[in-house]
Amino acid sequence: MTVRVRFAPSPTGYLHIGGARTALYSYLFAKANGGKYILRIEDTDLERSKREYEEAQIADLKWMGIEHDEGPDKGGDFGPYRQSERLQIYKDIAWDFVKRGLAYPCFLTSIELERLTEKATSENKDPHAYHGQFRDLDPAQAQKRIDAGEEYVIRFKNPGKTWEFTDLVKGHVKFPENMVGDFVILRANGMPVYNFCCVVDDAKMEMTHVFRAEEHLNNTCRQLMIYDAMGVTPPSFGHVSLLIGHDRQKLSKRHGATSVTQYK
Ligand code: GLU
Repeated sequence: MTVRVRFAPSPTGYLHIGGARTALYSYLFAKANGGKYILRIEDTDLERSKREYEEAQIADLKWMGIEHDEGPDKGGDFGPYRQSERLQIYKDIAWDFVKRGLAYPCFLTSIELERLTEKATSENKDPHAYHGQFRDLDPAQAQKRIDAGEEYVIRFKNPGKTWEFTDLVKGHVKFPENMVGDFVILRANGMPVYNFCCVVDDAKMEMTHVFRAEEHLNNTCRQLMIYDAMGVTPPSFGHVSLLIGHDRQKLSKRHGATSVTQYK
């Protein structure tokens, strides 16, 4: 099996030095194993994503000598490599989940959602305890409401199991059973949520290893559920420590230079 490792930055700013390190690890791991290193652009945040940042990040990676084998500017067999150009793929999979009873349209408004979260918290329950209001709605009823133009999101039906995996850096990780509820995979505007499209792409692009910052460790719980629903074996994960300042907080602008451009 060919080792395939990706770096998946969001083009919402210049390349952070922490991201550069993740890219370096991913690149070195791929190359040390005779594999491929892929660049995928996670630009589903339409307001904050800019092509100018994508170009600047690619230029900074190149400056560091990190050249990808596949990517938006190069193509490859698993493209397109920009998430904004893959929206139909996410939509199809989300609706396939709905058809298979693994996800459902949810019509809760943000005000109702807030109220339910408050109710759950005041009863000492998990904040997401009441978010599954629409999980058993008759699909024909749901379709009627959609056809009538009602706004909806697609929520994934948490199967309520314990999820665990062995991380290449952290070792054995086991998530508490009620850590997440039924979570959104497709927003009302049709855009996919990170935990969903990241898995769709890592699966479709046949990634064998995923290296990313430790702050994503908890996301892996939701992601394991999506792999399971897709019937795909998850890649091996390595969650690397954050780069921190002298105050042991995540390296940020308060500490001084954080972007590769500035170091350059
Ligand atoms: N776009 C995500 C980020 O920049 C990618 C996380 C991941 O590698 O899964 O944090």
